Amino acid sequence: MADFEHGLSSIDMQNINRISIINFIYNSSGVTQQMIAKRLNISMPTVIQNIKELREKNLLVEESTLDSSGGRRPRLIEFNYNSHYSVGVMVKSHEWAVVLLNLKGEIKDSVIHHEKFKHTGKYWKSINASISDILAANGIDRELIIGVGISLPCVVIHSENRLDMSTTLPALNYTPFAEIQRHFDFPVYFENEANAAGYAEAWVRRKYNDVVYLSINEGISGAIITSRGISHGNNGRLGEFGHAVIHTNGKPCICGRKGCFEVYCSTKVLSETTNDSLEAFWCKLKSNDKEAVQLFDEYLRDLAIMITNIRVALDCDIIIGGDIKQGLDRNYSRLIQLVDAENKYFENHDYLSLAYYDDIGAAVGVAELRNIDFVNR
Ligand SMILES: [Zn+2]
Repeated sequence: MADFEHGLSSIDMQNINRISIINFIYNSSGVTQQMIAKRLNISMPTVIQNIKELREKNLLVEESTLDSSGGRRPRLIEFNYNSHYSVGVMVKSHEWAVVLLNLKGEIKDSVIHHEKFKHTGKYWKSINASISDILAANGIDRELIIGVGISLPCVVIHSENRLDMSTTLPALNYTPFAEIQRHFDFPVYFENEANAAGYAEAWVRRKYNDVVYLSINEGISGAIITSRGISHGNNGRLGEFGHAVIHTNGKPCICGRKGCFEVYCSTKVLSETTNDSLEAFWCKLKSNDKEAVQLFDEYLRDLAIMITNIRVALDCDIIIGGDIKQGLDRNYSRLIQLVDAENKYFENHDYLSLAYYDDIGAAVGVAELRNIDFVNR
């Protein structure tokens, strides 16, 4: 990158150079100042000045090495991933989780509490207290926390600093961010649960092409991740695949339409046959219970229709996660068979995969979003 481009002010260029340099070091495993200057086409004085500033912020780890003749080699510079930490919180209807990440996205600690959601000060304060506990347990200074991300099964309207509709947690409908923020000691950032989990999946695979993440729980939502990050759409609802119709004049849905994907592929479809216990349904399926096997096969047929619809419309990789993952892990070959049968016209199922994270992906993703914001600040 050139130090000067027509039309950009010197402050613009300083910011572009700074962000380029920090990103280059962040994504490298040891570089020299000369390498940075050469690869980014930035002058040495600019590189030296930026390195000085990053060093003062404790964002670099440097080591001098000697070559075989005893002479000093140029210092290798690495990003100091443990200079700061981020916290991710995942709030679901029946549990919440807290994860502690370093700036590389490595999980340093995590905790899951099985507690039903309540939009009360007591509930939010107990999560805030858990953050303090996890920092104390890991001996991490509170000043090193760059922020807290909270993932929620809600539409998040960033431009208006509020939540929108949530069929899973209706108590949060239209809640301003400030109403939750006041219960926390750290600055809080909010993201939709599927967006956050999808971001974590793209991050862990280092996939920066377009990816759809399909989140299947009691509610169904999705995320579209592009090289630019999470795409939100005009109203924060991009990727709400749950209310796409897969059966014309099918069963009625809470949204007012008939035949929505969520009506057929919510995990409730399975768990309502086993006293609302999804775990009990998996046990029944494992024991080859005839009714469970038949129900799950119908379920997979409907899922295959939606997977194919997404692939045909968006031509991107598809990752499936959420509570359904446990059942799909054991029956993946049948799902693949149905997907291939549904999509004969195009290609095979190589674009499809199951999520890397079992349960805390959304918490990891929302913390990683804090990390990237910090690095690019
Ligand atoms: Zn619907």
